[in-house]
Amino acid sequence: MNWLIYLIGSNAANQPMCYCAPIAIVEADDAEAAKEITAKRTPVYANQFLRAVTEDDADPDDWNAVSDLDALARSHAEGEKCFGCNKPAERADMAGFWCDDC
Ligand SMILES: [Zn+2]
Repeated sequence: MNWLIYLIGSNAANQPMCYCAPIAIVEADDAEAAKEITAKRTPVYANQFLRAVTEDDADPDDWNAVSDLDALARSHAEGEKCFGCNKPAERADMAGFWCDDC
């Protein structure tokens, strides 16, 4: 199942404001596994922690915001072009590159 991951906590000890943001949607069997997957991809500092909620429990606005970000990241990767001649990337993981001709 899919989990929406929130990053919770302040960035610095002297910042009283709670920082709480939806950062990812991951597929995992349970909430603990979802948080482990996210922690491998995202730096989580000592005063921060992750919270995983199911799609049913997530705020639809938060869910959609992260879905849009994921879609944007994918479409960006697919649209990567050579810095020199704008030749499109042959693979989606060729993020920002120089082609053989440039
Ligand atoms: Zn080129």
